[in-house]
Amino acid sequence: MGIEEKLPAGFMLTTVEALAGYMRKSSVWPATFGLACCAIEMMAVGTPDYDIARFGMERFSATPRQADLMIVAGRVSQKMAPVVRQVYDQMPEPKWVISMGVCASSGGMFNNYAIVQGVDHVIPVDIYLPGCPPRPQMLLNAIITLHQHIQTMPLGANRVEAARAAEAAALQA
Ligand code: SF4
Repeated sequence: MGIEEKLPAGFMLTTVEALAGYMRKSSVWPATFGLACCAIEMMAVGTPDYDIARFGMERFSATPRQADLMIVAGRVSQKMAPVVRQVYDQMPEPKWVISMGVCASSGGMFNNYAIVQGVDHVIPVDIYLPGCPPRPQMLLNAIITLHQHIQTMPLGANRVEAARAAEAAALQA
């Protein structure tokens, strides 16, 4: 009997997917991108106190073409919205978005004509992080949660399939 007959069905595929997921989540490169006060807390995760380098993420990319994570840190003005969308479009797939702080997620205290009332009007969001501002530890927690999502993402899955897979994994945990 050959080895492929002894292994459970789908063994190779799930192993490759798990390996790819592990490598993907271990080398996420955030785009250099800060919009307001939340960005100060985002920058703090690069300091030795919080040490984002332990996740292989210390390289904030100056070009969206070499980034796969956008951390929207701060309020999004109407004038900035097209730029946010353009930067997002220039990032290669697969890519992820963390909406950092109440302003990015819902407009926060800026309930007025100048501010987009949630960046998800402009780009899809994977994780909403509450707070004004969220502390660096909270951002690290969001990143760890995102890593779990990336790890379980099927190869070649689109965003909807990936969200379903993450939901199923969360239910099983
Ligand atoms: Fe600034 Fe608070 Fe808005 Fe963040 S959530 S951009 S800290 S006002």
